[in-house]
Amino acid sequence: MKIPVVENVLKANDALATENRLLLDEKNIRAINIMSAPGSGKTTLLQKTIEDLKGELRCGVLVGDLQTTRDAERLETSGAPVVQINTGRGCHLDAMQVAQGLRSLDLDAIDLLFIENVGNMVCPAGFDLGEHYRAILLSIPEGDDKVAKYPTLFQKADVVLLTKIDLSLVLHFRVQQVREDLAALQAKVPFIELSTVKQQNLEEWYGWLRSIAGGTMTG
Ligand code: MG
Ligand code: ZN
Repeated sequence: MKIPVVENVLKANDALATENRLLLDEKNIRAINIMSAPGSGKTTLLQKTIEDLKGELRCGVLVGDLQTTRDAERLETSGAPVVQINTGRGCHLDAMQVAQGLRSLDLDAIDLLFIENVGNMVCPAGFDLGEHYRAILLSIPEGDDKVAKYPTLFQKADVVLLTKIDLSLVLHFRVQQVREDLAALQAKVPFIELSTVKQQNLEEWYGWLRSIAGGTMTG
């Protein structure tokens, strides 16, 4: 049995997502939808990234959470423009919320827009927000079986970031398992193992960001 309501909701979302992308293109902004489970280090990585790229790339953030403005407050200390979107009971961001968030940002003052999605490995993958790229985080404490368990999310990735790698030995995390599971999904995307705390391999992530931002300049 088909459920037309769900189909219509997704169609409306896709139309709005396309509008968002057109607006971002017009303003020469590259947008990255950051998705992961709660607690994988999205906000911490963004704080560090924005600070380290200061003076080079002008970053802005839309951050989605069910409640609180805590992530926005953390991110604002970096000096970047930040808009918190509270979704209430909603467990993912949708294109309408992003459209509203975009209205609160000075789009002429941004090169890279990070959209930190609500921490959730399931439905955020089903909602196009108008982004150009999707970065998926997986942290060591979550376990090395998550790519196989949540394939839809990882299939959509343009880059996969394995975070908190400073904990991999103590938690007996098998990185090779993750590599094999990604290969099985045909996810031929950059796979970056990093630690924000120990400042490991952050340059690799920044290099990826520079490469996509560079695309903006020629566009
Ligand atoms: Mg967060
Ligand atoms: Zn949801």
